[in-house]
Amino acid sequence: MNTIYNFSAGPAVLPRAVLEQAQEEMLEWSGSGMSVTEMSHRSKEFLSIVEDAERTLTSLLGLNEDYQVLFLQGGATTQFSVIPMNLLEDSRGADYICTGQWSKKAIKEGKKIGSIHVAATSEDRKFSDIPSYDSWDLRSNSSYIHITSNETIGGVEFHDYPSNLPAPLVADMSSHILSRPLDVSKFGLIYAGAQKNIGPAGLTIIIIRKDLLNRIGPDLPSMFSYAVQADNQSMFNTPPTYAIYMAGLVFKWLENQGGLSSVEQKNIKKSNMIYDQIDSTGFYRSPVARNCRSRMNIPFRIHDESLEDLFLKDANDYGLLQLKGHRSVGGIRASIYNAMPTEGVEALLGFMQHFEQQHG
Ligand SMILES: *Cc1c(COP(=O)(O)O)cnc(C)c1O
Repeated sequence: MNTIYNFSAGPAVLPRAVLEQAQEEMLEWSGSGMSVTEMSHRSKEFLSIVEDAERTLTSLLGLNEDYQVLFLQGGATTQFSVIPMNLLEDSRGADYICTGQWSKKAIKEGKKIGSIHVAATSEDRKFSDIPSYDSWDLRSNSSYIHITSNETIGGVEFHDYPSNLPAPLVADMSSHILSRPLDVSKFGLIYAGAQKNIGPAGLTIIIIRKDLLNRIGPDLPSMFSYAVQADNQSMFNTPPTYAIYMAGLVFKWLENQGGLSSVEQKNIKKSNMIYDQIDSTGFYRSPVARNCRSRMNIPFRIHDESLEDLFLKDANDYGLLQLKGHRSVGGIRASIYNAMPTEGVEALLGFMQHFEQQHG
């Protein structure tokens, strides 16, 4: 029996050490007499858990006083609506950059709230790259500029960000947050569903520059108001307590890995192993331009696409799970988030080489 490795795009693999700690603490957390799932979110025990999680996240990202962290629910998809509710001023509209399926969804939902202008798109190139920054048709009075920083389905990643933008930059980082160091000062708002690179589904993390909290004013429904959530330390209602606890364990684990610089080095190494194999002979191919290939989500095709079903079946039998590409694009996709050990990537690489030898 081979060791099993899980390449799911999300909900996704978590660090084994974190799952073991959660298991150990499942019945009783730190002498409290109860499980984290059983605690009042107002108890001093849970407050210490949430404060610890926030402190570790703040330290990992080097956040300063200008930024507020929120732990919300509803996933990144809810934020597609909540962001324009909080930040889009009617008379100004907002600019969106369209780089894949998740950008498209953000644009579609945003249009239900206000005026959205698509300032650049790579759809005519099948979302294989990121439109160059100097080609973005930004409006001078835009409320904000929205990007999808890592396209989980298409495997397109921003490896840097434009400077001197005319409006605050807002980024959906669901599938690569905490995969590398980040200069947060470039952003007005960062958001991410937890279930890709952080923890269990149910938690959504928002990092917002404080001067943007009150842009729209007090008429928003309370649950959708960043200002209300910030005033109530993300506890206007019951937060996703267990998911916050697990995220806190993952933040600690990242710290123990040496922080985000050392996590980035591992991610570069892991992703290069797979891309080098894809590029080596022409048996496999990547649909993404080299300068914007994602380190987290690696979609690829077999030159002879009729072999892909067999690849997925054999991989599964070999213990390499959930490698199927997204249903909208097909093919194969290896998601190798922070928690995927190098051994898992080596196992995939070995399998790809073996499969090519058999069928190439
Ligand atoms: C998964 C994902 C989403 C949707 O997340 P939900 O938590 O299911 O709403 C949005 N954006 C990106 C980039 C994603 O990877």
